[in-house]
Amino acid sequence: MAEGDIPSDEREEINSMPKIKDTWKSSQWHDFVDEQDADDYYQKLYKNGELYTDEEFGKIKLKPWMIFLDKDHFKEKLKDYCVQEGFAINVLWADNTRYTATCYAECCKWRIHSSRLPDGITWAIKKIEPNVHTCRGLETYNPLCDVKWVASKLMEDIRANPDIPGSALNELLFQRYGVYMKKSSLYNMKKLAIEKLYGGHDQSYADLPAYTKVICESNPQSKAFFSTVESESITRQLLFNNIFISFTAMWKEFLGGCRPLIGVDGTHLKGDYGGVLLSAVALDANNEIFPLAYAIVSAEDKETWSWFFWNLYNLLKESSRKDWTVISDRQKGIDIALLDVWPTVKRRYCCRHISRNYKKQFSGPLLYILFWRACNATSQFTYRKAMEKLKEVGGDSVMKFFAELGDPAGWSKHKFDPNVLEECAW
Ligand SMILES: [Zn+2]
Repeated sequence: MAEGDIPSDEREEINSMPKIKDTWKSSQWHDFVDEQDADDYYQKLYKNGELYTDEEFGKIKLKPWMIFLDKDHFKEKLKDYCVQEGFAINVLWADNTRYTATCYAECCKWRIHSSRLPDGITWAIKKIEPNVHTCRGLETYNPLCDVKWVASKLMEDIRANPDIPGSALNELLFQRYGVYMKKSSLYNMKKLAIEKLYGGHDQSYADLPAYTKVICESNPQSKAFFSTVESESITRQLLFNNIFISFTAMWKEFLGGCRPLIGVDGTHLKGDYGGVLLSAVALDANNEIFPLAYAIVSAEDKETWSWFFWNLYNLLKESSRKDWTVISDRQKGIDIALLDVWPTVKRRYCCRHISRNYKKQFSGPLLYILFWRACNATSQFTYRKAMEKLKEVGGDSVMKFFAELGDPAGWSKHKFDPNVLEECAW
């Protein structure tokens, strides 16, 4: 077997399969051995040869004398055929002139042989023997459905919806081809398809300067900033540093129609380069999420949050409003950054986030219910009642937790700024 001919992951699968004791000798194929009987072969080809025509999956047929444009074309159709018929192959021989494979099942005698024609390009199937498999075939997993094969089959689905989850792709694969892919391979498969469609992360990062330029030209008044840093190892090599984007429609409509409440959060990016996505969102009149701005930075720390808030602050300074509130988790970088670049902004903390920490320290449903009663208290009276009960049930340790949360204006409804009251929990 020519090892270089088979992708490494596929080779692994094939190697792990039961091997057939190979008793094949080239003389068995004497009738069709290339070049040895070229004249006779051409006569037969003239009489029997048939160019492979594309058939939809389920109706693919392979037979002797079928002609393919080249070796890749043959291998591609052989793979489709094998998946359709529900078996895998064991490649016995593969070079630039000959290709021989058998069914992977030890008990099965099925074998295919094809070779290059004397024109040096075209390939033809010389023999398939026997016509039917003597094995039971595979169930819903076929090692031939590797990352490359599946990516090529689902390319258009991923193009139409790049956010489609892996599980949905697996279902599509099953509906159309009757096979599932291993969950662990779905991510790599999607990554490969996205790379083929959009050029991958390398190309995308390289395109960012042009992208910010296009945003500003095609969406006047949009804010799109891109910056680089000089590499320390390679002189004068510029590396991506950060990017900030707020389309005109985002920041203008925010100023025109949303309450002065901005939710910010950071999330780590997957992929080859990592980094963190920082986002700022608001609530519109229907209490639905309204995007305001987003940025990509190398890490989530005081510096990057300061830079992000500075850009946000500059977006909003054209407004006559000054009563902004920023809501977020209790990450220290955010508080320090706001004190630094936007000290006048009011602060609020995400109670769901606090509740997760709270639950880790204080178990039991009663303390949890009382926690939310204190957070959701809309009057001083109900707040005081909830806190009294918390003290009674949880004692000093619970009181210490709440003291560390700081001013209730940051987490209890009764103290919220009336301009930005809302029912939605952040
Ligand atoms: Zn078989």
